[in-house]
Amino acid sequence: MRQIGHFVGGAAATGKAGRFSDVFDPATGKVQAKVALAGDDEVAQAVAVAAAAQTGWAATNPQRRARVMFAFKALLEREMDSLAALLSSEHGKTIADAKGDIQRGLEVIEFACGIPHLLKGEFTEGAGPGIDMYSMRQPLGVVAGITPFNFPAMIPLWMAGVAIACGNAFICKPSEKDPSVPMRLGELFKEAGLPDGIFQVINGDRIAVDAILAHPDIKAVSFVGSSSVAEYIYARCATHGKRVQAMGGAKNHAIILPDADLDQVVNDLIGAGYGSAGERCMAISVAVPVTDAVADALVARLKPRVEALRVGPPTDPDVDYGPLISAAHRDSVKQWIARGVAEGAELVVDGRALSFQGYEGGFYLGGSLFDRVTPEMESYRTEIFGPVLQVMRAPDAETGLSLASAHQYGNGVAIYTRDGGAARNFASRVQAGMVGINVPIPVPLAYHSFGGWKRSAFGDTNQHGMEGVRFYTKVKTVTARWPEGAGSAEFVIPVMK
Ligand code: NAD
Repeated sequence: MRQIGHFVGGAAATGKAGRFSDVFDPATGKVQAKVALAGDDEVAQAVAVAAAAQTGWAATNPQRRARVMFAFKALLEREMDSLAALLSSEHGKTIADAKGDIQRGLEVIEFACGIPHLLKGEFTEGAGPGIDMYSMRQPLGVVAGITPFNFPAMIPLWMAGVAIACGNAFICKPSEKDPSVPMRLGELFKEAGLPDGIFQVINGDRIAVDAILAHPDIKAVSFVGSSSVAEYIYARCATHGKRVQAMGGAKNHAIILPDADLDQVVNDLIGAGYGSAGERCMAISVAVPVTDAVADALVARLKPRVEALRVGPPTDPDVDYGPLISAAHRDSVKQWIARGVAEGAELVVDGRALSFQGYEGGFYLGGSLFDRVTPEMESYRTEIFGPVLQVMRAPDAETGLSLASAHQYGNGVAIYTRDGGAARNFASRVQAGMVGINVPIPVPLAYHSFGGWKRSAFGDTNQHGMEGVRFYTKVKTVTARWPEGAGSAEFVIPVMK
């Protein structure tokens, strides 16, 4: 059985803690590899290697750091096909979707190629007599990223691209469910000319995470995953005095006003609700048609489209989505469907019975569609994270706005309308971090920043864009005087005259 260790000091390292986790092929349900789960010592060793390498990397001028990013971007493009195949084999998303995962990460590397410009400081000439003042951004040192299973290329690259370009050493603790792409990124960073120890991968579970959170030489932690773990990471980092950004779960609403283009809405809901088997933090999981007439028309159009979804092995170019990540997760989604029925929602399409000849062991689930979901249902309050779309009818636009705003999660939200004023009012008032106007998955591009509100994100700064640069650097401000004479002692707080 293939074993996946760690990537430390520029080379693959065998796991020494003696604990392993199964890595499945979700398409067949078979175990395809064992990934090592690191202990405290392995984390400590990676941190020591990172700390030793980081000083030299921070002293490397920004344009040289940018050149490594340019080379790395070219390698990601060269390896797009092989990376997508590797990603798909462990995650289960289609090859085309896997390429999108890599592409969105690659775009953060493109952003990081501009680091000489992004790191330029501020300068005030003549802040006082003979006094100049300047601020600069310096790297934090060794930083860590803890990432989820659902974007094994994009999310490590969100973090690593900006952290490394800013002059930090970055340690990635990927999901133990699909660790191979981050390991491969380590090899590609090395090939791009990144010094050993600046990008490392430590595989593991909670033990490795706790070692990262407690290590005094790790200065910042970036986390993306479920909200309960995000909250834990946020609290532990605060206890240990670390900078932290911790992105959590989601329940993204699409509000459909009566004047919306229903053809576009149906296409968008099918793609954003069921793409990647609904395992996206920016999936649309709740559709809120405004008025019963719109709801009736929408459900009538969605039903045959959900029934016709093509689910199958992710290597088949004709499927819409592949298997879920694990049997346990598929069973959890099934239980939430049962719960929705028990709570009184109307199950318009039931995807639970799906199975394929030759792939009986795979973690597949057909698309499900609920109508007449209500706010007090637990199946509405919780993130299901599967191919399930819930329709919740609203009498007016204001109710739709209130529903999305009152939900515990506030990651993404969308409004469908032709009315510019209604869209503007909605975007201004809705309580969510990322808003789409006739756009179903409003994931900001690399030079903007990604982040939700409420229980979708703990901490102050978003991922990538200038927010990422701010997260991975600390500001130092210098006040300099080159006096022509000795002056005199001043006993009051200096005021620029
Ligand atoms: P998860 O929380 O189970 O795992 C995320 C990471 O935390 C993994 O590296 C895992 O090893 C580690 N981990 C898991 N349990 C832990 C524990 N008890 N203590 C310490 N570490 C632990 O999340 P997942 O299932 O891999 O990913 C799906 C979740 O991520 C969904 O909730 C999804 O909405 C969320 N997500 C959010 C965003 C966002 O930007 N807001 C993006 C992608 C995914």
